[in-house]
Amino acid sequence: MHSTMMQAPLSLNHLLERAGQLFSGNEIVSRLPDKSLRRHSFGQFYRRTRSLAAALAGLGLAKGDRVATLCWNHHAHLECYFGIPAAGGVMHTLNLRLAPDDIGWIAGNAQDRFLVIDDVLLPLYQQFAHLHRFEKVIVFPFSGAAVDSKYADYEALLAQADGQSFEYAPHHEDDPVAMCYTSGTTGKPKGVVYSHRSTILHTLVGSLSDFWGLRGTDVLMPVTPMFHANSWGIPYAAVMLGVKMVFPGPHLHPEDLLDLMSIEPPTVSLGVPTIWMSLIQAFEASQAADSPHHGRWTLPRGMRSLVGGAAVPESLIRAFDRHGIWLLQGWGMTETSPLCTISYPRAELRGASADERYRRAAMAGVPVPLVELRVRGDTGGDQPWDGSTVGEIQVRGPFITGSYYRVPVEEDKFTADGWLRTGDVASIDSLGFVKISDRTKDLIKSGGEWISSVDLENAIMSHPSVAEAAVIAIPDEKWSERPLACVVLKPGAQASAEDFRAHLLAHGFAKWQLPERFEFIDAVPRTSTGKFWKLKLRERFPK
Ligand code: ADP
Repeated sequence: MHSTMMQAPLSLNHLLERAGQLFSGNEIVSRLPDKSLRRHSFGQFYRRTRSLAAALAGLGLAKGDRVATLCWNHHAHLECYFGIPAAGGVMHTLNLRLAPDDIGWIAGNAQDRFLVIDDVLLPLYQQFAHLHRFEKVIVFPFSGAAVDSKYADYEALLAQADGQSFEYAPHHEDDPVAMCYTSGTTGKPKGVVYSHRSTILHTLVGSLSDFWGLRGTDVLMPVTPMFHANSWGIPYAAVMLGVKMVFPGPHLHPEDLLDLMSIEPPTVSLGVPTIWMSLIQAFEASQAADSPHHGRWTLPRGMRSLVGGAAVPESLIRAFDRHGIWLLQGWGMTETSPLCTISYPRAELRGASADERYRRAAMAGVPVPLVELRVRGDTGGDQPWDGSTVGEIQVRGPFITGSYYRVPVEEDKFTADGWLRTGDVASIDSLGFVKISDRTKDLIKSGGEWISSVDLENAIMSHPSVAEAAVIAIPDEKWSERPLACVVLKPGAQASAEDFRAHLLAHGFAKWQLPERFEFIDAVPRTSTGKFWKLKLRERFPK
């Protein structure tokens, strides 16, 4: 017997058509390089996206051809998210924070045919142009300046194209729509290729109310770059639901974000923890009577902020909650689209104390539907879900990559039975809450016992004098490794190693788990996606 259901392929084009039909009056706001705001309606977005697709088809884009983007977060980048796949192409978001040589290598490895680039990023392009020749460089006049005639002008291409009679490139649901390279924090960058099907399933799952819980009445501010795992996939969901978007453009400093939040208050935003750490510090400093910014900003009370990409300290969750903002933690990777777990209040936690709610919110959370998750020990067996036994997380599911682009399936990344080895070490408790202790490469093994750098960092960051902290392993003759804490104090604050030791003991750490040394530094180095870059600290403090 066969089911009687239609075989309609899952498709991004459906989301675009739906947005054009149902939400044409809703707004998309982009902050331009001069900090002014540009407003677009969903109707304009729909028409411009179809024009982009028609223009790309007119330029000879063939099915499966890669079109790279080197852009900030704004409406034209969103047009690429849908316009490139509509023409049968694959959008390849390049990470503008990587070294130029790495960007050039990645574009070459992906065999990108065209490039869509913000005019303000052309100086960056010129630094890697010799490494990869794009057939066509299409410049988006983000700053409003005229486009040099040696490039194609994005706006002129759209104006000349016939979007109205454009016909979508035929496709199967497994055909590729986008690709993204891992940022290479722990190895050479590798390409992950998403399909219509994986993207639609990820969009549907993420949008459920226990997870992102997006609604048509929301106002979304994506601070996560659109090149970082497709801004975690949220732009797709916002288009599906007609959610108003406010894009910060190139202005990501805390003061700029606070300005934008005061003018266009979001109800949902997303970004890595370091963004929110500096934002809350800037906001709290502005409350002092003698601050030059006194009274300048209001935080959007009631906002939900999706935070992931690195562990979210409990102290940060508490700090935002004092201002009526809830941080919703998720865990995932470029390889996993990225959403795998979200920490949401399960029914069993109804009536739990505030402390317990915060403790859970500081965990990576519960696997979302369609993601299978297991934790494997050194000997390969499944670890019990007892909340304390740790092992490597492995995942499997329809929006998780099963290989890397142009790389033979690697035994160190995929198990023989087809699970992705994440390289993250975690425990799971009986309610299914995952708690990440470390990346395998960041683990500290002292005297045969593991010490979680994440736990130490979170506890140190709960000290009122601390702005940021990162803990790394240093070699030790007797214990093989010992923790070293790198601490950034808040401006004007004072605290000593002794204060921190007492603070950690009061937080339940045993003496042998305490950092061997505390180094006071000016700032924790950041990766290209804004996370703490421990590799750089290990280079700086080799012993
Ligand atoms: P990068 O290698 O630049 O960090 P990704 O953004 O793909 O690239 O990072 C995925 C990794 O980020 C995960 O494997 C994990 O180590 C870390 N990560 C993501 N979310 C969390 C989280 N909530 N808690 C702890 N670590 C996280």
